[in-house]
Order: sequence, then C-alpha cells, then structure tokens
Amino acid sequence: MIVPAVLTTESTLTCAHGFAVSAGSSSRLRVGGKAVLLADLAGQSIDCRLPDDPNTSTKHCTKVAQVSAGESSKLTVGSVSVLLDVVAGLSDGTPPPTGPPLLPAVAQQAKLRAAVAP
Ligand SMILES: [Zn+2]
Repeated sequence: MIVPAVLTTESTLTCAHGFAVSAGSSSRLRVGGKAVLLADLAGQSIDCRLPDDPNTSTKHCTKVAQVSAGESSKLTVGSVSVLLDVVAGLSDGTPPPTGPPLLPAVAQQAKLRAAVAP
C-alpha cells in the first residue's frame, strides 16, 4: 500500500478547469522549507479564469467549497490534520449547485508521508 504524501505550499492543487488553488498555510510544520497544507482548505481562493457565460450558467471558481477526503488521521498541526495528496473536494464554480471536483493533487515532495483518515 502506498502511503500518501503530505501536501505543501509547493504542491500542485487545481480546480476542475486547471487553475491553481492559492493554498496558503500558517502551519509551522515544513517540508523542504515549504509549509504543509492543513485540512482546513475550504474557503481558500482559486485563481480560476474560466469565462463566465450566463447562457450556459458557466461560472468560474472563486474558492474551495469543501474538502471531503485527504485528511491525515495521525499527523496534525495545532490539532488540525495535514492534507494529503489523496485530497478530494469541491470548488464553488460550474456546474452548480455543488461545484466541480478538484483535480488530483501532486505533492511535489516525497519526504513526508502520512496515513489517510479511515
Ligand atoms: Zn475553476
């Protein structure tokens, strides 16, 4: 079984349209000098440039709406779980009402891994 890698501010995390989630982190835990991302990702902004189209109700993403998977069960910072590369979540863009899923994340680091929450 492959243990997921921990995401950091250097990891690639994108909305369904391929634009980056501006995932900031206040975590004191760092890997290779980059702060690890925490599971409280909801609300982080997305720099989505999908053109809005009222005729098809196309709407660009502005933020992460929710995170549904990818929290570490064991590794926490300030009692918040770190985020793993198996993260799954939704943005607030098209298609409404739930928004599209985030694309699979790429950790960009392999030094720190942690088990996913059961
Ligand atoms: Zn988007």
